Amino acid sequence: RAKSEGRGTYRFFEATMGAQVRDRRLLEHDLRYAVARGEMRLVYQPQSDAATGAVIGFEVLLRWQHPERGAVSPAIFIPVAEESGVILQLGEWVLREACREAATWKNPLTVAVNVSGVQVHAPNLVPLVQDVLHETGLAPERLEIEVTETALIREPARAQATLRQLKSIGVRIAMDDFGTGYSSLSNLRSYPFDKIKIDASFIRTVDSNEQTAAIVRSVLGLGRGLGMPVLAEGVETEEELRFLVKENCAAVQGFLMGRPSPIATFSHFTHPAPGGPDRGDLAA
Ligand code: C2E
Ligand code: MG
Ligand code: MG
Ligand code: MG
Repeated sequence: RAKSEGRGTYRFFEATMGAQVRDRRLLEHDLRYAVARGEMRLVYQPQSDAATGAVIGFEVLLRWQHPERGAVSPAIFIPVAEESGVILQLGEWVLREACREAATWKNPLTVAVNVSGVQVHAPNLVPLVQDVLHETGLAPERLEIEVTETALIREPARAQATLRQLKSIGVRIAMDDFGTGYSSLSNLRSYPFDKIKIDASFIRTVDSNEQTAAIVRSVLGLGRGLGMPVLAEGVETEEELRFLVKENCAAVQGFLMGRPSPIATFSHFTHPAPGGPDRGDLAA
């Protein structure tokens, strides 16, 4: 009886696996046409100076509204896009749309675009960025590329060369999700980062857990020593913000300052009224 039960379990497992593989192929197929079908859009999340609350820029985040599945999280579709190579066309679309949008702002805030490791290792990232900057007229200094350490490990020498070329044309580079994945301190000097983004998982308990607080203080010290401003991701509470301000964290981003939203939500920052406040907290 145990034997047949075991076989039944195995068959069930096999069927589930098959369904998962099929589902992934369907998702991959739909992803290929999602931009052309107008299912993709960009949302923007403010990044603020921690001490003054002034908005200094926006991170661009991709949103997919699937006709049957509804909203699909980037955590689900970005890996599928990476494994299938669709990320190359998708990433190009994101970059172009984001730069086009930022170039229309009256206030010259920065725009931070997430770039996948697949894009960093592709041969055309630098010429693509150059083309897009040229085409949109966006000043290179206003574009920040966010990459994770994990994205660079496949071919570190090549990734390093690509990031250096981007930096040489004036584009800024931020290390995303610092402290997670394959974090290594040597990465901080091997790659030309301009900014460190501490992962949200550390911010969550920074105000309640002494160990987390010690880690975050150390990262802030590291950034100071290296001359790299540190931005804290995922700031949700006043207590977290208070800790970060007290410890001289340069910049903050999170639901407390603003949720990722259509850019029109933030028009008072991108297009401040003449004589009106061109900065300030969102509550004002
Ligand atoms: P990320 O680059 O680290 O982006 C930050 C994520 O944290 C976003 O999730 C954002 O919505 C979320 N977040 C921001 N503030 C808070 C907060 O206070 N609390 C909490 N709980 N979450 C907060 P999202 O938009 O779901 O994106 C997830 C990841 O997907 C991103 O992490 C990024 O790695 C990737 N991703 C998103 N858009 C793109 C894109 O255009 N290209 C690429 N290659 N990856 C993207
Ligand atoms: Mg990011
Ligand atoms: Mg992050
Ligand atoms: Mg907390």
